[in-house]
Amino acid sequence: MAVDLVVANGTVVTPQGAATADVLIGDGRILDIVAPGAGRGAQTVEARDRVVLPGGIDPHVHFLMNFMGQRSVYDFFSGSVAALRGGVTTFIDFALQRQGRSIADGLAFRRSKADGEVACDYGLHPIVTDVNDASLAEIDGLVAGGASTFKVYTIYRSEKLMLEDGPLLELMHAAGRAGGGVILHAENASIIDTAIARALARGDVAPRFHAATRPTISETEAVQRAILFGAQADCPIHIFHLNSGPAVALVAAARARGQSVSAETCTHYLALTDEVYDRVDGHLFVASPPLRDKANQDMIWAGLAEGALAIVTSDDASYSAEAKALGKARFDTIANGMPGVEARLPLLWTLGVASGRLTLERFCEAWAGETAKLFGLAPQKGAIAPGADADLVVIDPQTRRSMTVDSHFGPIGYNPFAGMELTGWPVATIRRGAIAVVDGVFRGARGEGRYLARKPVG
Ligand SMILES: [Zn+2]
Repeated sequence: MAVDLVVANGTVVTPQGAATADVLIGDGRILDIVAPGAGRGAQTVEARDRVVLPGGIDPHVHFLMNFMGQRSVYDFFSGSVAALRGGVTTFIDFALQRQGRSIADGLAFRRSKADGEVACDYGLHPIVTDVNDASLAEIDGLVAGGASTFKVYTIYRSEKLMLEDGPLLELMHAAGRAGGGVILHAENASIIDTAIARALARGDVAPRFHAATRPTISETEAVQRAILFGAQADCPIHIFHLNSGPAVALVAAARARGQSVSAETCTHYLALTDEVYDRVDGHLFVASPPLRDKANQDMIWAGLAEGALAIVTSDDASYSAEAKALGKARFDTIANGMPGVEARLPLLWTLGVASGRLTLERFCEAWAGETAKLFGLAPQKGAIAPGADADLVVIDPQTRRSMTVDSHFGPIGYNPFAGMELTGWPVATIRRGAIAVVDGVFRGARGEGRYLARKPVG
C-alpha cells in the first residue's frame, strides 16, 4: 500500500517498548514500524529528538454542556480542537437521557449536535436517569449499536440526575447481560446533602466548604456500594474521578479478587491539592469530587503507578472564569468543573514520567492503551501498532515552559494549572493519518471526526 506519511526518526513508544523508528502511514492507518531512515512516503514529519506516542483517548469530557445554570465554553468543535492541540485524538462525551424519554432519544440528540462538528473521533456514554421497563429493554440494542457503557450519578437528586439503589442494580443486571458496563459518579448523596445543609445554616459559604462538605467517606461508601452491586449483577463497572485513598484500596482489593472493576483519576487530582480553596480565586477550583489533601494525593499516585487506578482522564468542564465567579458567594452555587482536556498530556508526562512516578509503560496505558480496552475501542485505537488507526502525538520531552492562561484554546479566562513548569508539550498531532495540529495551530477541519461504535466491554 502507498505510504502517505512517514513520522521519521522519533522515539516511538509501542506496547513492546520504546525505540527509534519510522512510522509508516497509509490510508489513515499505521502500515508498519521500520528502522529509522528506512521510511519513504509522500509526506514526512521529522521527529528526531521527539517522542512519538499513541494519540490520547479521553473518555471523560463534557463539551457543549449546561449544568448549574452555566454553559461550557467548549462546544463539540472547539472542544475537539482543544483535544487535538493536547494530543488527544479520541474523546468520549455523554448523552443524557431526559426523564420520561428513551435513552436512544438522548443519544440521537447528542449525535445531531456532534456529527459534522467534531474534528476528531468520538464516542458517547449514555447517562441513564430513568430506569423503567422501556429503558431497560433498550440496553441490548444500545450495546449492540456501539454505546456499550452507561453512566450513572449516585448524587444530584434535585437536578434529577441521581439513580437510587434499586434502579441502579436493575440497570447493572441489564447492562451485564448485554455485554455492557456501568460507569459511576460515586458519591454518597445523603452524607453530602446533610453536610451542605449544616454548613449553609452555619454561614460557612466560602469555596473551601465545598471540599469540607464532601468528606472522603462519601466517596468510600459509594465506591464500596458500586463494587458490591457490580459483583451481584456480574456487570463490569468503572469508577469516575476517584480521588481518595480509601477508595483506591477498595478498587485494588476487588481487582485482586478478579472482579471486573476499573477506576480513573483526573489530571487535577494529580496536580493540585485542596489548599487552593483558600486562595482568593479558590472558586475556580470547585469540582466534584473536590481536590483533596497531599496524603490522599500520594495514595492516588501510588494507585496509578501500580495500576489499581487504570487510567487518567480530564473530566473537562470548561466553564469560564466569569461563569465560575457568578456562584462564588456560596460554594454550592459555583458551576462544578475545570478545563483540562488540553493539559492532561504535559501534566501527566511531567509529573508522571519525567519525575519518575510513572513508567513509560504505565503512562501509555493511562493515557490511551488501557482506556481503549476498557471502553471497547481496541485494537483500532490506543496503541502504535500495524493495522491500528494512525492516531499519533509527537511530543518534545526537553523544552520546559510555564503553563499560562493562554495555554489552552478558547476564552476560558483562567487555567487551573497556570504557573506550573512543564515539559512533554505536543508539537504535532496526527489524526487517522492527517496532520491535525502543528505547534498548537489547528490544521484540520470541522466535521472530520467520526462517531465510534464501540465494542461490548463485558
Ligand atoms: Zn464528569
